[in-house]
Amino acid sequence: MPLKIDTEFIFHLLSLSKNFFLSTFNSLMSVLKEIILANPRGFCAGVVRAIATVRLALEQYGSPIYVLHEIVHNKHVVQELEGLGVVFMVELADIPPGAVCVFSAHGVSVAVEHQAQSLGLRTIDATCPLVSSVHRMVEKYHAEGCDVLIIGHHRHPEVEGAAGRVVGRVHIIASEEEAETVQVVDPERVAYVTQTTLSQNDIAGIRKKLEQRFPAIRGPRSNVCYATENRQNVVKELAQKTDVLLVVGSKSSSNSNRLREVGVRAGMIGYLIDDATDIRPEWLQGHASVGVTAGASAPERLVRGVVHWLQEYGATVVCELPGKEEQVSFKPAELDQQDLRK
Ligand code: SF4
Repeated sequence: MPLKIDTEFIFHLLSLSKNFFLSTFNSLMSVLKEIILANPRGFCAGVVRAIATVRLALEQYGSPIYVLHEIVHNKHVVQELEGLGVVFMVELADIPPGAVCVFSAHGVSVAVEHQAQSLGLRTIDATCPLVSSVHRMVEKYHAEGCDVLIIGHHRHPEVEGAAGRVVGRVHIIASEEEAETVQVVDPERVAYVTQTTLSQNDIAGIRKKLEQRFPAIRGPRSNVCYATENRQNVVKELAQKTDVLLVVGSKSSSNSNRLREVGVRAGMIGYLIDDATDIRPEWLQGHASVGVTAGASAPERLVRGVVHWLQEYGATVVCELPGKEEQVSFKPAELDQQDLRK
C-alpha cells in the first residue's frame, strides 16, 4: 500500500519549527543594554539608625556586643558586624549576665525587656521609631478596652514585638481567612494596626473583611512606613520601563520580598538576590533593559556590585529614575546610663 504523505501537515510543522527557531535566535541575540536604577532604594532611616547604634556601642563598650536577633534583615550587614565583634543571639538567656545587648530595629515585647532586666543585661533599644509608634498605638487601643488586631506575618519579629506590648486580646491576622475567623470579646471595640513593611495591596483585602465583620473597627489606613511605600511606588514606575527586576535583599527581609511581589504584580519578572553572585545570565537573555532596586536593609555597595556585574555582562547605559528625596533621619539610640538599664 503506497505511503500517503500529508503535505499540508508537513508544511505546518516546518512553519512551526521556523517560528520557534526565529524566536529563540532573536531572544539569544537580544543584548542587555540598559540598567535602570530605582530611586529611592536601599537603606531607610530606621536601618541607618540601628546600624549606627551598634557601631557606637562597639566604640563605647568594645566587643563583644550582643544583638538579639539580626539587627536588620540582611546577610551582609550581619556578617560585617560579626567581623567587628558583634554576636547575634536568638535567645536572651544565652547572653552572659552583665553584657551589653542591643534590641534590633524590629522591636521587642515587654516580656523580652523584663527578661533582659532579670538576666542583668545592659540593654540598648535600636527599635525603629516608626515601629515604636506602632507599639504606642497597640498600647493605646488595648488600654481603651479594644481587641487589637495586628495585620502582619506570623513569627516576624516586628509583629511578635508589637503583639507582645500588651497582654491578652491581641491577634495576628496574616490572611483574609484569618480576618474572617478571628474571635473578639466585643465587636464594637476592635482596632487594628499593621506591620510597617507590608504592601497596601496585602492590607486592603484583609482590612475590607475586617470592616465587613466589625463596622466600628478603628485603625489607620496602614502603618506601612514611608520607606516601604516609596520603594514600592518606584518599582511600579520601573514596570513602565522594563520587564525584568532585580531586588537586592535577603530572603528574610519582608520589605525586599514585598518589592519583588509588587514588581511581579506590575508585570515584571522579579528576582530577589543577596548580591551579584546570585544573578543568572539566563534571566537576562532576550531583555534589553533591567530594573534594579534594593530593600530597606540592603547596603548600596551591593547595588554597585550588581551594576558592575551587569556592565561586565554587556550593559552600556546606566540611568536612574529621578525619584523623590527622602528627608527622614533618626539619631542613633542614646548609649548613656539612662539607656543602659542594669
Ligand atoms: S523599613 Fe520603615 S519601619 Fe522598618 S526600619 Fe525602615 S523606616 Fe523603620
